[in-house]
Amino acid sequence: MGMVGDWLKSGDGGARTSGRLRVGSMASGAEVSLPYVALRGARPGRTLWLHGQVHGDEINGIVAALQFVRGLDAEAMSGNVVVTPTGNPQALDARRKRNPYDELDLDQSYPGNVDGLITERVAHALMNEVKGVADVLINLHTMNPLFDAPPYTVYKHHPASGITEDQLLAAIACFHPHLACRQDVGGKGELPGNIAGALDYQCLAAGTLAFMLELGSGSRLQPNNVALAERGFAALAQQMGILPGTQAPSPASLRTVSRRGWVTAREGGLFVPRYQAGDLVKKGQSMGDLLGMDGSATPVPVFERDGILIGLRSDPVVHTGERLAFVAWEWADRQTPRVA
Ligand SMILES: [Zn+2]
Repeated sequence: MGMVGDWLKSGDGGARTSGRLRVGSMASGAEVSLPYVALRGARPGRTLWLHGQVHGDEINGIVAALQFVRGLDAEAMSGNVVVTPTGNPQALDARRKRNPYDELDLDQSYPGNVDGLITERVAHALMNEVKGVADVLINLHTMNPLFDAPPYTVYKHHPASGITEDQLLAAIACFHPHLACRQDVGGKGELPGNIAGALDYQCLAAGTLAFMLELGSGSRLQPNNVALAERGFAALAQQMGILPGTQAPSPASLRTVSRRGWVTAREGGLFVPRYQAGDLVKKGQSMGDLLGMDGSATPVPVFERDGILIGLRSDPVVHTGERLAFVAWEWADRQTPRVA
């Protein structure tokens, strides 16, 4: 067990601490470490872990997690709350998605490697703390700065975890997400890369209920999305029995997505959408126009089936092959499961 778990078990009664998990150092001597804040409730109970970011330019989750933990009173709690505001401090400082020193994607690098590249080392340092300590972990993200998106969730299923889809959806519903996307760990048709290296998937493998909460756009503060996350943390902590009081009601149903993909540009130009992020685009409709420098306007190819715009490009400058929208292609509305 790591330092945080040891501290949670080291005493009785309500207490709060903060510190840093040392990973290594820079040539200058500056420490590379992961900051944390931990609250031990006055009475024992379950542990909720909020992981503010894995990608360095995704900001809303850090702010939400830090504001939430500031407002907690350990004396009123039965169980624990841990916040690791950033899992990727070098990328945060550089205002970039990836660590500039090795260019790896941290959310494809879990469970990490204690002897590996720096991204693999920070991944290992976090997993070492989470394992055997967190009952529920939220892996906080945003889309990149070029896109708009209403808050949504992404979850995976790990067959050996013993954690059911119903348990995941009952926790996810606390956040009133626009969509709950079930991601195939094979990853076909979404993004290249090692989806099984995501923090939430590796947490599931370790027996921790975990999912991704996507809070809008990167590189900026979006107060409405931060507030939605804070309300969701409180509702989930109540659902877990950590916080007193009556949980704010979850939505009666969730829209779960089973297939999604990117729509990319055939030609360069300035993309002017006819829709907003979150909208349904019907079969046969075009999402918008590409303006050419000769004064032309060319509609982008029509949808061959209905699609929901999970995220929509808000930076109009596009080149061939760049992404215009992230689209849900198959979905179903299902009743929110009750907590077992
Ligand atoms: Zn991300």
